[in-house]
Amino acid sequence: MSEPLNNRHVERLAEQLERPELDNRQYRVIRLPNKLEALLIHDPDTDKASGALDVNVGSFSDEEDMPGMAHAVEHLLFMGTKKYPKENAYNQYLNAHSGYSNAYTGSTSTNYYFEIAASLTSQTSTPNGSAATSASSTREDLTAKTESPLYGALDRFAQFFIEPLFLADTLDRELKAVDSENKKNLQSDNWRLHQLNKSLSNPRHPFCHFSTGSYKTLHDDPLKRGVRIRDEFIRFHEAHYSANLMKLVVLGRENLDELERWVQELFSPVPNKDLPQNRWDDEPPFTENELGMQIFAKPVFDQRVLDLYFPYPDEEALVASHPGRYLSHLIGHEGPGSILAYIKAKGWANGLGAGPLHIGPGAAFFSISIRLTEDGLKEYKEVTKAVFYYIAMLNDQEPQKWIFDETSEMSEVDFRFKQKSPASRTTSALSSVMQQRDLPREWLLSTSLIKEFNKDAIKKGLAHLRHDNFRLTVVSQNYPGEWDKREKWYGTEYKYEPIPGAFREEIRKAAQSAPGERPPELHLPHKNEFIPTRLEVEKKEVETPMTSPRLIRHDENVRTWYKKDDRFWVPKANLHITLRTPIVSVTPRVHVMTTLYRELVQDALVEYSYDAEISGLAYSITNHGVGIDILVNGYNCKMAVLLEKVLVSMRDLEVRDDRFRIVKERLARSMRNWDYGQPYHQVGVYTRWLQGERGWINEQNMDELAGISAADVRAFFPLLLAQFHVEVLVHGNVYKEDALALGREIEAILRPRTLPASQWPTRRALLYPEGSNFVYKRSLKDPANVNNCIEYCLLVGSNQDRPLRAKIMLLAQMTEEPAFDQLRTKEQLGYVVFSGTSVHNQYAGYRVLVQSESSCDYLEQRIDAFLLDFEKSLAEMSEKEFEGHKRAMINKRLEKLKNLSQETNRFWGHIMSEAFDFEAVDHDVAALSTLTKPDMQAFFSHYISPSSPSTRAKLSVHLVAQSSSSAIAATNAPAHDTAALQESRLASLLTKFLNGLGVAVDADALARRFEDVDVAGGDAEAMKEALRLYLTLDQDVEAQRAHDMVAQGMGLLGVAMPSVGVDVSGGPVAAGQNGEGAGANGVGEPVLIEDVAKFKASMCVSSGARPVKDLTEFEESGPKL
Ligand SMILES: [Zn+2]
Repeated sequence: MSEPLNNRHVERLAEQLERPELDNRQYRVIRLPNKLEALLIHDPDTDKASGALDVNVGSFSDEEDMPGMAHAVEHLLFMGTKKYPKENAYNQYLNAHSGYSNAYTGSTSTNYYFEIAASLTSQTSTPNGSAATSASSTREDLTAKTESPLYGALDRFAQFFIEPLFLADTLDRELKAVDSENKKNLQSDNWRLHQLNKSLSNPRHPFCHFSTGSYKTLHDDPLKRGVRIRDEFIRFHEAHYSANLMKLVVLGRENLDELERWVQELFSPVPNKDLPQNRWDDEPPFTENELGMQIFAKPVFDQRVLDLYFPYPDEEALVASHPGRYLSHLIGHEGPGSILAYIKAKGWANGLGAGPLHIGPGAAFFSISIRLTEDGLKEYKEVTKAVFYYIAMLNDQEPQKWIFDETSEMSEVDFRFKQKSPASRTTSALSSVMQQRDLPREWLLSTSLIKEFNKDAIKKGLAHLRHDNFRLTVVSQNYPGEWDKREKWYGTEYKYEPIPGAFREEIRKAAQSAPGERPPELHLPHKNEFIPTRLEVEKKEVETPMTSPRLIRHDENVRTWYKKDDRFWVPKANLHITLRTPIVSVTPRVHVMTTLYRELVQDALVEYSYDAEISGLAYSITNHGVGIDILVNGYNCKMAVLLEKVLVSMRDLEVRDDRFRIVKERLARSMRNWDYGQPYHQVGVYTRWLQGERGWINEQNMDELAGISAADVRAFFPLLLAQFHVEVLVHGNVYKEDALALGREIEAILRPRTLPASQWPTRRALLYPEGSNFVYKRSLKDPANVNNCIEYCLLVGSNQDRPLRAKIMLLAQMTEEPAFDQLRTKEQLGYVVFSGTSVHNQYAGYRVLVQSESSCDYLEQRIDAFLLDFEKSLAEMSEKEFEGHKRAMINKRLEKLKNLSQETNRFWGHIMSEAFDFEAVDHDVAALSTLTKPDMQAFFSHYISPSSPSTRAKLSVHLVAQSSSSAIAATNAPAHDTAALQESRLASLLTKFLNGLGVAVDADALARRFEDVDVAGGDAEAMKEALRLYLTLDQDVEAQRAHDMVAQGMGLLGVAMPSVGVDVSGGPVAAGQNGEGAGANGVGEPVLIEDVAKFKASMCVSSGARPVKDLTEFEESGPKL
């Protein structure tokens, strides 16, 4: 091949990047003639390729009167390009090659990325040393563009930045998607409180913007002003998207020269407008008007937080010294002498976080956030003073070199042994880092390193933490009890006023206090003994890594699974322990006592374990249906020390009344708050509950909590520890002897009685017989939440049935893109749409989950319709496409393990399932590769299709919102708006419906047809006629087809309109009349589950999990490592 002539215009900016010890990638930074800068990454082992592009423009650049513009442009950019006009061409291509895409909009950045199979053939090396999946799988000839899915993806990706179309007929849908995304966030305190802080900042700095946008800000309001919105988006794109502001990262298996040629070829046409960086140096986010103020905010969740915000220097350019990290290390410390240790001992706080927050070029905050107890809320002024006493102490002395050395040393250790992260996370993160213009390109990977002790910069930063340079926020549901204002975008209630003079004076005194005037408990931390000192790894050449751990101890007390790491060579290990006992979950009361017990142990260990945690060694304790888990992970050198301390604390726990009160109150709150979480987070708990033989839900646990005292827990936990079986997995840089010693340590410290295997708990699933059609309904607690949620589950069979399992996986692969495209993109049901496999208690199935403002009954119908459509597409699917899906699914299964923890989690999952199916991947690949299209059709028609109600087994969970946006709008708006609301609801339903059928939506024509229809009166005949006329006259739909569409459409309106007080069910469209859709309401109405205990009692249960082979086969026969 001859080099293209203009190759010499590509500048090479860097090739030698500072990198982790284990990193075998190659890097090159280049700049194209159009000034687009790109980082190329050659990774010889990767199974996924990826591209990411970061544009230096975000919500800070939104027009003042169209908040959300940058975000809307991010959504619209994907909708067709001149070269690839089909709106979902990009995602179809990615999906066909085991890939996916995503994007996000930040304040000064918009970041787009995708991930895709690194080669067309399955794998060049199979991760499990399994049988190769295709004969050609070892070929390395990837130079031809046609051989690499990456080239095709980059080609499609580049077009978004060259010639996007902003297709007019996708505009409305994508703005609805933005709207739905915003509605998902409306009840989330993170979004609410963040926006409150923004809304109450300097109105001349763009930090005060609302960044997500809504249908109102991006559609209704601008239209009212006569703005042509699509033109505005195109204008925004033209004004801000320029090659010189774009940073591209491409990661692939191809060599750097090849990648460079592709990037040059595909991205050189991106127009360069030589735009300057957007900066807002003249205005700070907080001015005198905002400083010295206090905010009282009412949260949705029951939580109590004290936040302090200090304007702080932008340290982005200080990459070598990171002065803010010195301050956050000390102020955020949790060990003896720290602010947290002091206020926790007083019973005022549960947690504290601190650190600099970058806002944009030239602007930052230093924030301190403290989670308060009930007493802490009463004493929030004392808590604030404690912070300033500590700052005064820091001001009294020079920055300490030994403290810097500790943080610097840990940053080096962490960087040196950093493991690879997944391809798209790597590219997306690096493309954003590249926007730091002062960062030497050689340091792109190593921005976390703290190299220089910059005393002056630390002092300069500290000088900003002043009593006259901050604002405070108190978040509480009950204090002060009255909030006289409402935030504009989220409706958060708040109160805003100057900090009272007397309080201000006390803060000043604390900030200027002399050593003798401060609480003696506050002092600098001690030397950290947990910083790892032994970091050697004995690396050996390994032909094929072991795919399963070995059983190195197997007796009636302890099972120890062990694998010395032979893939990743890091000085780290992961230790998983289960203390197996059925006691932990016999009743909700006992479950809650167990939870309180482990929370109290963790509470007692906070000060001790903090040093370990910041040294990369962490532990956790959890409880579940069959026991208590202890997890320790991180640098292995001091792991045994930490484990011993945890075990001793478990054994010797002193249940103090004061700590019990605090821990119990915290647990009570988290149980109450659970009901206010996202509906799609809640729904799975109910489906699992309805599919398992045993298990409890939040409300049952909550009922028991109140009646449990400290004395109860004191009496209970020794019983818990008296008898159990121990299951251990030791994986990592640990020798066998040390692994065995860890198991002995548990026995020696806790001294349990043997729990015979005959007494171990068994997990079983309920067996839903063929023809099952159950529905469980629940009303969501949050009165202000507008989103319903459905989880539509088809239960198929044992997860240990390999062919069945393969079919479910392949189905999930085949429906993933079409379900999203149909239910979310086309019908705009809601922002959260998910389809895929489900496994509970070793029982497998397929599910579709949608969170939406539409009613669950409506969603149920739409999912049925989608599945019926898919059945047709499956029948029509070409062999080539079918084989493509198989290959994509096999690739997903064969995806390489990226780091030690992924492998540990895989092992632990197989151990916890009690099937010990460590070679599941190989078996799945084998089962997948034999599947044929008729196999899948037969499977679909038996287990999945709505037209087979007598053979499939279905459970649907409906979580029903108490509110709706129309109801909220109705309470806020004068009565005469109701009719307008009903009409807009009708219009939006019809739009979704027509989009779903692929019929163009001409909003004006549609509105004309409905002009004289009595919507409020539910005049079904007139609606039918209007819709028919629109279809036949305005859209040229053929008469019979139009008739069918009208029938279907009216059915949907009948279900969806009652939520705004319109009843069209009296119309002449009877269920079953609409031909093919009839299956949904044809055979057998769903059976409502009312009494769950009775329901469960009426069902048969599955067998427990069976080990795939006798466990003695895992025992180690001879010394291996
Ligand atoms: Zn979005």
